[in-house]
Amino acid sequence: MSEHFPVSRDTFDEVMVPNYAPSAVIPVRGQGSRVWDQQDKEYIDFAGGIAVNCLGHCHPTLVGALKEQSEKIWHVSNVMTNEPALRLAKKLVDATFADKVYFANSGAESNEAALKLARRWALNEFGAEKSQIIAFKQGFHGRTFFTVTVGGQETYSAGFGPRPADIDHAEYNNLDSVKALISDKTCAIMVEPLQGEGGIISPTAEFIQGLRELCNEHNALLIFDEVQTGAGRLGELYAYMDLGVIPDILTSAKGLGGGFPIGAMLTTTAIAKHLTIGTHGSTYGGNPLACAVAEAVIDTINTPEILAGVKAKAQLYTDGLNAINAKYKVFSEIRGKGLLIGAVLNEQYQGKAVDFLNAAMAEGVMTLIAGASIIRFAPSLVIPDKDIFEGLTRFEKAVASLTA
Ligand SMILES: *Cc1c(COP(=O)(O)O)cnc(C)c1O
Repeated sequence: MSEHFPVSRDTFDEVMVPNYAPSAVIPVRGQGSRVWDQQDKEYIDFAGGIAVNCLGHCHPTLVGALKEQSEKIWHVSNVMTNEPALRLAKKLVDATFADKVYFANSGAESNEAALKLARRWALNEFGAEKSQIIAFKQGFHGRTFFTVTVGGQETYSAGFGPRPADIDHAEYNNLDSVKALISDKTCAIMVEPLQGEGGIISPTAEFIQGLRELCNEHNALLIFDEVQTGAGRLGELYAYMDLGVIPDILTSAKGLGGGFPIGAMLTTTAIAKHLTIGTHGSTYGGNPLACAVAEAVIDTINTPEILAGVKAKAQLYTDGLNAINAKYKVFSEIRGKGLLIGAVLNEQYQGKAVDFLNAAMAEGVMTLIAGASIIRFAPSLVIPDKDIFEGLTRFEKAVASLTA
C-alpha cells in the first residue's frame, strides 16, 4: 500500500498547477446523492461532478461492474479490441441513430474526433476547400486547442499561438446568423442541443430544425455535442431524441461513465468509413474498465422508469426553486430541461452566482454555476426525492442568509 500522509487544500497550492481554484472542501466519500468531506461534514450533491455522476456516488451496479472487470483485465490498448468495448458499442448503436462508435476518454477528445472526422469526410468527398466549421458563441466543446477554438468563448483559446483555422461563430437560436456564414464550403456545424456552460439555453425547435435543413442544403455535417445533455440528463437517452432532428455525428462523455472517464463519438457507416486505419486513435480509448462501467450506466439509465423519473424530479426542482423565489425574489427565470437546470439571478444579484454557490456549500449543499449570474443544478438522475427536498431546504437557508 502507498503511504497516506495527510493532505489539505494548502497542498493544492504547493504542488498543483494553478489553473483551477478549487473549493476549500475536499470530499472524501459519497453514497447516492450525499457526500462527506475531510471533517465528515455532510453535503447533498446537486452538482453531480458537473453533470457526470448520473447515478450518484458509488451506485451498487456501477461498483459491481467496476469490481468485476477489475479482476478480469484492465487494459489491452487498441492493438486488440475487448469485450466491454464491443458490448458497449453494440448497445449505443442499438439505442441511437448511429451505426458506428469511436471511444475516447473525455468530452474534448470525443469532439476532437468528431471535428477531425468531419474535416476528413469533407476532404475526401468534396475537396480541400470544404473546411469551414460553424459553431456558436458561448458554446463549449472542451479544452484541446481545436475544440476550444470551436468553442464560443474567444478568451479560452487566446494566448496559445496560432489557432486552428476556418472556424466561425454564429449566434445560438439565430438562424439568420448561420445563414450569413454557411456556404458549400461549410464542412460541419457543431452545436450543443442545449447550451450548458454557456448559460443553460434551450434551442428553439425552429433553430435546431433549421440547422438540419441548412446542413442538408449545403452538404455539411450536423454534429451534436451531447457531452452534457446526453446519458439521460434531459429526460431522453440523448437530447436529439426529443428534438425531431437526427445529427450526423453525436458526441457523449460526462454522464456516460457515471464518474469513470470515457467519451464516445457516434456516427453513421457512410461517414465513419473516412476514419480509415491509422487516421486517428487513442491509447486508452475503449479501455475495458471504462467500457464496463459505461455499459452498466447505459443499462441502468436507458429505461422508461429512470427517464420518466428525470422529468418528475425536474418538476420538483422547478417547483422548489419557484417557491424560494416567491419568498426572496432572487431569480428572473428558472430554465433548462430535465435535470440540467439554471436559476438565473435577477438584476439585483448580477455576477453573484459564486456567492450563492459558496453560501449553499456552507449550508451543506453542492451546486454549480454557469457563468457569473446563473446557478446550475445537475444532480444524479436517481437522486431520492427526499434529498431534493432536504437540499432545497439547505439552499433556501443560503438564499436567506445572502438576502438578509
Ligand atoms: C464538459 C463539456 C465538454 C468537455 O468535456 P471534457 O470531458 O471536460 O473534455 C465538451 N462539451 C460539452 C457540451 C461539455 O459540457
